[in-house]
Amino acid sequence: MASDEQQFQLSTRTLHADRLAGVEHGGIHKPIHTSVQFGFERVEDLIGVFQGTLKGGFNYARQGTPTSAALERQITLLEQGVGTIAFSSGMAALTAIFWTLLRAGDHVVTSQFIFGNTNSFFGTLANFDVDVTKVDVTSAANVEAALRPNTRIVFAETIANPATQVPDFDAIGRLCRERGLLFVVDNTITSPQIFRPGTVGAGLVINSLTKTIGGHGAALGGSVTDTGQFDWDRFPNISPSYLSSPARERGLTQIRKKALRDMGAALAPEPAHRISLGLETLPLRVAHTSATADALARFLQRHPAVSQVMYPMLPEHPQYEIAKRHFSAGSWLLSFELRDAATTLPVLNRLRLPIKATGLGDNRTLVIPVAPTIFWEAGPEARAMMGIGDGLVRVSVGLENVDDLIADFDQALAAG
Ligand SMILES: *Cc1c(COP(=O)(O)O)cnc(C)c1O
Repeated sequence: MASDEQQFQLSTRTLHADRLAGVEHGGIHKPIHTSVQFGFERVEDLIGVFQGTLKGGFNYARQGTPTSAALERQITLLEQGVGTIAFSSGMAALTAIFWTLLRAGDHVVTSQFIFGNTNSFFGTLANFDVDVTKVDVTSAANVEAALRPNTRIVFAETIANPATQVPDFDAIGRLCRERGLLFVVDNTITSPQIFRPGTVGAGLVINSLTKTIGGHGAALGGSVTDTGQFDWDRFPNISPSYLSSPARERGLTQIRKKALRDMGAALAPEPAHRISLGLETLPLRVAHTSATADALARFLQRHPAVSQVMYPMLPEHPQYEIAKRHFSAGSWLLSFELRDAATTLPVLNRLRLPIKATGLGDNRTLVIPVAPTIFWEAGPEARAMMGIGDGLVRVSVGLENVDDLIADFDQALAAG
């Protein structure tokens, strides 16, 4: 409404009053902007927002809001990328990449050590005539051997959940660059605080904001960041409508238009705000949880009731050298196997601090026996392929005091 507002009736002025005064009020947090619609003084700006020429303009909340845009800027900074799109969950972010960038007849090479729901999604892709080959990414030679002329994307996670395998990052990044392939990395477990996949040539980075970045476990969210490392001129599946935008913007433009606008998995302003608040303490939380996980891993490794501990910062870990070279810390994820698998459930039931729960990346320590729960649907064959034994226990280390946590594991194992 223009400044000559006095000519309008009170009801009209009341209806528009919220946007007559400055809306930010000097608040030092980005406010939760719940508006779904965005209006413009000049119709030229309305046209500009549709044609992408009005920078910073908002069209409709399904394609982003000022609150989600503020979070996107924070994540772009953390990943040192060129742009980010926020989604309603990590799975929405991950699936958006494959739905919007692939076509029937394309081929994907993925790590065989992946999040269960991602594994299930790759099964769905097969129904749309996209072939997916699963390989052991701890050696780049396996990735190279699986490549075909129609391969478009190579996908891996930084530290695999639950058995903590780490990809042969430098060699896979080099291979993808040489072949003009898009390397997509799920950075959820490590977060940009520990590792930036752009440094090894990943073109797109996924983060489940529900986990390390939010931390509190009180909001679902996900993101896709373009690192600026991939040359989109080499990608054949960009729709002609987006070829007019600069090459470095094409991937994200297509993902935002197709995935947010057409498929609608937008991050609502309220969870975007909660995730932004969590993100502010990311460096402190990652330092604490990684130090505690490291100490707990070393304690478990020495314990006679434990047969194996999986944690990338243990020198016995098969990818210890890669982890040490690339990660600033080991993260909050560790897994272990008891010598006597039959004692697994009683040991977990004796734990007093860790919560027996499905999720991970929370401020509270969570534990879960993996085979009978999250990887039950996958079946014994897939479990064996991912290195998941029947007695494997996953621990997502939280912010509890390290001595309290170790003492609790000690008493639970002692009665073993
Ligand atoms: C949890 C998780 C996801 C999915 O994120 P949501 O926010 O739960 O949808 C994807 N990848 C990894 C590695 C995860 O741990």
